[in-house]
Amino acid sequence: MSTTNIPASSQWAISDVLKRPSPGRVPFSVEFMPPRDDAAEERLYRAAEVFHDLGASFVSVTYGAGGSTRERTSRIARRLAQQPLTTLVHLTLVNHTRDEMKAILQEYLELGLTNLLALRGDPPGDPLGDWVSTEGGLNYASELIDLIKATPEFEQFDLGIASFPEGHFRAKTLEEDTKYTLAKLRGGAQYSITQMFFDVEDYLRLRDRLVAADPIHGAKPIIPGIMPITSLRSVRRQVELSGAQLPSNLEEALVRAANGNEEANKDEIRKVGIEYSTNMAERLIAEGAEDLHFMTLNFTRATQEVLYNLGMAPAWGAEHGQDAVR
Ligand SMILES: Cc1cc2nc3c(=O)[nH]c(=O)nc-3n(C[C@H](O)[C@H](O)[C@H](O)COP(=O)(O)OP(=O)(O)OC[C@H]3O[C@@H](n4cnc5c(N)ncnc54)[C@H](O)[C@@H]3O)c2cc1C
Repeated sequence: MSTTNIPASSQWAISDVLKRPSPGRVPFSVEFMPPRDDAAEERLYRAAEVFHDLGASFVSVTYGAGGSTRERTSRIARRLAQQPLTTLVHLTLVNHTRDEMKAILQEYLELGLTNLLALRGDPPGDPLGDWVSTEGGLNYASELIDLIKATPEFEQFDLGIASFPEGHFRAKTLEEDTKYTLAKLRGGAQYSITQMFFDVEDYLRLRDRLVAADPIHGAKPIIPGIMPITSLRSVRRQVELSGAQLPSNLEEALVRAANGNEEANKDEIRKVGIEYSTNMAERLIAEGAEDLHFMTLNFTRATQEVLYNLGMAPAWGAEHGQDAVR
């Protein structure tokens, strides 16, 4: 794949991807994170090829808290978009002035990367710590949307936002969370992607709240973010970092599978986790989710196992190369 500055071709607006007919098969998409080193970056590209071949509707690339991963975000997004894979780039407000954000948006545009997930981000170091404003910067994702909408040269951006089935951990009430999520949808976001969650009821209640509060903007697609569960330790860590809840029945089932020795029983834990994630995905499909967005942590195996269980992919096998998998 090329790393030159050719604008990305074959890019669909994600709001159009979500409207595309997909008979007999719910679309799926995947999230990647900019890795810290070049070897891991190469593995990510191999994983992207696997998901491309499996028919992913789009790939997203998160925006890191630190400088080097930020540079990787646009490099990786550009390279993925050459594959061609419809690519969604994330952008956060953390440590950026308005002018810096405008420069990044301009760069994305020049690269043909017009799908943007507009986010506030979390304070680096302690994601659950107090929000730190940047002088000359913005404080809420809605302000980034307003900035983009107020800038004529940014009209090509197709905007998505984050939403939170359990409510954002900083919102005092679910009503407040609904109000601010709706403000972003009314401001011009076309869809949202949810934080990982483990109880489908939370997703359905978010959807109900939004539609009840605004039948037009509240009815925009809510793409469920699914983290395939492969280990007790990692799911606990992810939950801790995101402020999401691990339902007690799931935790108990994973602890039972671990049987006092996580390492020795990792296959059992994985089996329980993948089955749980598959059941969630089945219910989400039955409930009409427009797309399933898998948080892959840059690995292919767990997501492909869930897709296989759903009848959406062949069984995961050695042909993809052991280093690209988990
Ligand atoms: C799908 C997804 C992808 C993500 N990708 C990344 C990533 O790439 N990089 C990264 O660093 N983080 C990422 N995050 C994490 C996200 O940035 C954090 O969860 C962050 O705390 C909230 O971001 P937001 O865009 O929802 O913020 P906002 O919409 O700004 O909301 C933040 C808080 O402020 C409240 N609020 C909003 N507007 C107002 C207002 N006008 N007045 C008062 N209160 C208000 C909200 O209720 C909420 O509690 C992602 C999250 C999700 C769900």
